[in-house]
Amino acid sequence: MFPPPSTIGILGGGQLGRMLALEARRAGHRIAIFTDEPYGCPAGQFADHEINAPYDDSTALTRFLQQVDVVTAEFENIPADCLEAVEAFKPLRPGFQALVTTQHREREKNFLRDQGITCAPFRVVDDLKGLEAAVAELGRPCVIKTAAFGYDGKGQAKVTADTDLAEAWSGFAGARAVVEQWIPFVCEVSVVGARGLRGETAVHGCVENQHTHHILDVTISPARVGPQVMKQALDLWEAVAAGLNYVGTMAVEMFVTADGKVIVNEIAPRPHNSGHYTIDACRTNQFQQQFRAVCGMPLGDASQHTPAVMVNLLGDIWPSPLKHPDWSPVLNHPRAKLHLYGKREARPRRKMGHFTVLGDTIDQALEDALRIRAALGIGV
Ligand code: ATP
Ligand code: MG
Repeated sequence: MFPPPSTIGILGGGQLGRMLALEARRAGHRIAIFTDEPYGCPAGQFADHEINAPYDDSTALTRFLQQVDVVTAEFENIPADCLEAVEAFKPLRPGFQALVTTQHREREKNFLRDQGITCAPFRVVDDLKGLEAAVAELGRPCVIKTAAFGYDGKGQAKVTADTDLAEAWSGFAGARAVVEQWIPFVCEVSVVGARGLRGETAVHGCVENQHTHHILDVTISPARVGPQVMKQALDLWEAVAAGLNYVGTMAVEMFVTADGKVIVNEIAPRPHNSGHYTIDACRTNQFQQQFRAVCGMPLGDASQHTPAVMVNLLGDIWPSPLKHPDWSPVLNHPRAKLHLYGKREARPRRKMGHFTVLGDTIDQALEDALRIRAALGIGV
């Protein structure tokens, strides 16, 4: 066990590391960040130590490892060599195996299939011929996704009835890709939870996610789905967590079909954007659970105390890269909480922050959140 004031090392410097650092430092931990981003990154702003170097800089990595008791990652695309070097020296949680499985779509899909966990039918392809065969087998529509380093819908192309495959493949040539059957879902849900060192789990519940341009836009918690969908979603999370022998906070994104079946879309081996509502609406939030699990401490009560809706704030609503929008629509609402990630420059589609609205009922929270969202000029 690494109780406070142990030092938690975080690989990655983004907003997920920032929110983890905030929670862990409040509890008395020290934080060291290792990131290839420049100094002053979102997580570094709340860290005791910040090391800025490429992930293959072994001297810098050694310096980082000397400062920490235990290491976690705030995003999954850390090169495997770096993860291996970390794990050889300090406890890495989640471990190498869970991280390398989930950082690569092909390995992730194979893991799901091997575990008998339902996901969209898929094929792995590495050239145009393979793509043609896969599309013939899976049928249209389907979607091509790069095997490595995709996020927020980047590296994806949908294949519809009239898509020219040679043209679609030109964006992927030279890469390995996963082709997936298109799932005509009625809604998307996710489950965020934590698993401790002894296999104990605590999940926050099942939430409903609305995406715009493949990026999460709104999370509604709890999800407006029946008990059967809820149960399938929670069972799938447990199966994935156990299958990966996972330690830490993890999210599973899922599709719900018209006949009430739940299908796994993807796994995030870290806290997740759809779990940000837990900061304001749950007894123990996803970042508190993460440092508890990673440090081998008992998990907290993950239950939700108030219905909540979270809305993402993307760079699109910034009037210019350095000028913030007028936040009064959020600030004027007594049950809305603004969270900004300390990113200096806004860019279109860049996640800059979020806000969460609490309500006595989910309908009320949603109505208020959508009103604030519109007043900020989101989606107009
Ligand atoms: P993120 O990092 O935001 O989770 P990502 O790049 O990893 O995104 P996915 O989660 O695979 O991408 O896909 C993004 C969105 O595209 C999904 O949330 C869903 O709305 C849609 N999508 C992806 N795959 C499918 C599919 N097989 N059938 C239907 N919709 C899909
Ligand atoms: Mg996704």
